[in-house]
Amino acid sequence: MYFLNTILDIFFPIYCLSCHKRGEYICLKCLLESPQAERESEKWIHPIYDYRHPPIKKALWLLKYSGKKRLAQTFASILYERILEELADLSIMENFRKPILIPIPISKQRRRERGYNQTELICRELIKLDRNKNFELESNILIKNHETVHQARIKDRRERLKNLAGSFTIKNLEKIKNRNIILIDDITTTGATLNEAKKTLKIAGAKKIVAFTVAH
Ligand SMILES: [Zn+2]
Repeated sequence: MYFLNTILDIFFPIYCLSCHKRGEYICLKCLLESPQAERESEKWIHPIYDYRHPPIKKALWLLKYSGKKRLAQTFASILYERILEELADLSIMENFRKPILIPIPISKQRRRERGYNQTELICRELIKLDRNKNFELESNILIKNHETVHQARIKDRRERLKNLAGSFTIKNLEKIKNRNIILIDDITTTGATLNEAKKTLKIAGAKKIVAFTVAH
């Protein structure tokens, strides 16, 4: 993979979208300088960056809509550190052990159009980083039923919740019974999607659920 990246870099150089340094779509220095998410989110949701920061917004857009899959690796390395920090506390305080990693899914229709689920790509990179096997990946448990109207277009909170109600199904129930779960999403805005996913998993018998997102 490293070799392939080197070859690709010779013919198709990548530049940091913020400082224009060669090598990554967003370099480590610019990531470290990006503002952390400060707006209030629920206690069980852990967002990392402030989505309003233009380089973060642009990088997430490139990953989601422009097939810049290398960004999944970049964001996974940042998420991984944060997850381990939280896991250290959670495993002691709340007996949060052997969690399952679940990406927020996209509908079949979206997957056909886009060809991939950016959140699943991030999860696969997280598993590669997780050499000590702190968690395992299950990307076939939480299923998105149908395409919902984009949440950001719905202004009213109640309408947002109604839009999402029943939007997820669980497959392979036995795999999540009494299991701790880490939900992963790229962006959380109102937390409505994560809350709907949590509710669905809880009804299906999951134990404790926490979520990590790249931005808020
Ligand atoms: Zn940079």
